[in-house]
Order: sequence, then structure tokens, then C-alpha cells
Amino acid sequence: MKFPAFSYACPTSLAEAIELLNDDEDSRPLAGGQSLLPMMALRVAAPRMLVDLGNIEALRQSVVLPDSMRIGAMATHAMNAASFDIWMHFPLMAQALHHVAHQAVRNRGTFGGSIAHADAGAEMPLVVSALDGVLLLDGQSGQRTLPASEFFQGHYTTAIEPGEILTGVEIPFSDMDWAFEELSRRPGDLAIAMVAAGVSVEDGVCSQARLMLGGISDHPIRAVEAETYLIGRELTPNVIRAAAGMSAAGIHARSDTHASADFRLSLATTLMRRALTQLATGAI
Ligand SMILES: Cc1cc2nc3c(=O)[nH]c(=O)nc-3n(C[C@H](O)[C@H](O)[C@H](O)COP(=O)(O)OP(=O)(O)OC[C@H]3O[C@@H](n4cnc5c(N)ncnc54)[C@H](O)[C@@H]3O)c2cc1C
Repeated sequence: MKFPAFSYACPTSLAEAIELLNDDEDSRPLAGGQSLLPMMALRVAAPRMLVDLGNIEALRQSVVLPDSMRIGAMATHAMNAASFDIWMHFPLMAQALHHVAHQAVRNRGTFGGSIAHADAGAEMPLVVSALDGVLLLDGQSGQRTLPASEFFQGHYTTAIEPGEILTGVEIPFSDMDWAFEELSRRPGDLAIAMVAAGVSVEDGVCSQARLMLGGISDHPIRAVEAETYLIGRELTPNVIRAAAGMSAAGIHARSDTHASADFRLSLATTLMRRALTQLATGAI
């Protein structure tokens, strides 16, 4: 299909991009274009103006800080998948990046674009939520930060205000071990269901746990009850089965052409059990 008519600007500074976005309320940032351009071609979106962030070099840069890493919004999935720092500090993210689309899409699609787009089946929102990332936003009224738990509000819905740009995400280092599991229809498709599980084990028992589910509902969900259950317990098959069952309990699951809500819930339990079993056996 042909694109609707639109104007295009390619600023070289963040300040200029913010000004352009605020000059026209029907403008949208353009990152890798891997989601926005197909949506425009399908007439699901028709912004009057696209503000391309591709020439703002600062947004592409990532930096390792003493206790965290700040990942630039315009770092592509391919850049992050090849980043030694990400492999070292966030093995969960490195594992999940293998599931993001295909190489051609990973070459253009960006970390920030994926987070701002907030597809319920996308891996990066789950990863950033599991690792307690802090979203860095910049707009006409200045900079602000938001925890991931407040940022993702629903399918394609975030706390970004009109005219704001996501500049990056600061992710604290984690001392937990992590496992990631996903099921999608074909390799590189968005997830039908996925889980991220993190645990620390001290003296044979679980001392820290973080369990997140994605693809099931319209935004990443934390399984707090199952996390609490794991603390102080040995990760035996029975404990893992109980925690996995608890992790999906009470979630209002979504249903679409790919899977029913019931299938997603039982899949989530299976994936969580697999992830926790990997962690318990050290098979990560
Ligand atoms: C065939 C195919 C398969 C795919 N499979 C997967 C998959 O398995 N998993 C997955 O996670 N993704 C998948 N994707 C999506 C891909 O990961 C995209 O990279 C991502 O969704 C959007 O990133 P982008 O950089 O292309 O953003 P764009 O398409 O340019 O933008 C997406 C949206 O985010 C907004 N936006 C972008 N950057 C910013 C910013 N810095 N600040 C504020 N708003 C911003 C835009 O205005 C737009 O509304 C797939 C895409 C395709 C085409």
C-alpha cells in the first residue's frame, strides 16, 4: 500500500528534535521505522510529520556506569546483541535479543523504538521491567525519569507524553542468575508468551527472586506472590511447580488470533517451570 502523505525532518540534536515534535502536535519520532512505517503503510497510523532521530548521535550511545548501564534509545537490536557489556552485565537481555525478529529487522529496529512502541509480545519491555530499568525521557518541560513499572501501561500504550522523546534506559546491575523462555509461532515472531526468571541461591535456599511474564497480558506482569513463595525455599521440583503455577494465577490474559487466554496462561506456567528448572540445575 502507498504511504499517506507526511513531512519529514532529520534533526542532528535532541533539542531540535524536541522543538520539531512540539511545533506540530501530529508529529511522531521515527527510530528504526520497523513498526511505525508498516503501520503507516497499513493506515493504522498517519502522522503529519516524522521526526527522524537517526542523526542524533548521542541517542545511539550506551555507557557503563559504576552500578548500572545506560543504554541509548537509538542503539539497534543488532548493536546490543553484539555488545560485550550487555553480555557481561545483562545476560537476560542477551538471551532475549536472540528472539527479537530477524537480522534485517534487528539491523534497523532500535531498543528505544521497541520500548516506546510497547507491543505486548515484544521482548525488550519484559527485560527492562524484569531488571528494574529506569526510563529516561526528555521534552519541552525538561527531563524526567520513570520506573519501568509505571512506564508500560498497555498494548502500544506507555507513559510517554506527546512531544517527549525516550533518550535511553538506565538498568542497574543485578547479582541474580537469570533465565529467559519464550514461545512464538515462528522464530523471530513476537511472543505468544515469555518469561524472565531471576534468582539468587544462598546456602541452598532462594534468597532473592524476580519473576516476570510477558505476552500474556497487555503489559509485563510481575509475579510477586510466587517470588515471595520462593524466598527461603530450596528450588526442588515441587517448589518450582508450585511457584510456576502461582506466577500465572489471577492474570487477566489476552486472547487473539495467535492464542486463547487459557492457552497463554497454561503456557506461562510451563515456561516459568522451565526457566526455574534451568536456574535450579545451573543449566543456563
Ligand atoms: C518482520 C518483523 C518482525 C518483528 N519481530 C519482533 C519480535 O519478535 N520481537 C520484538 O520485540 N519486535 C519485533 N519487531 C519489531 C522491531 O523490534 C522494532 O524494532 C520495534 O518494534 C520498533 O523499533 P523501531 O526502532 O523500528 O521503532 P519505530 O518503528 O521507528 O517506532 C515505533 C514507535 O515508537 C515511537 N518511538 C520510537 N523511538 C522513540 C523514542 N526514542 N522516543 C519516543 N518515541 C519513540 C515511534 O514514534 C513509533 O510510535 C518486528 C518487526 C518486524 C518488521
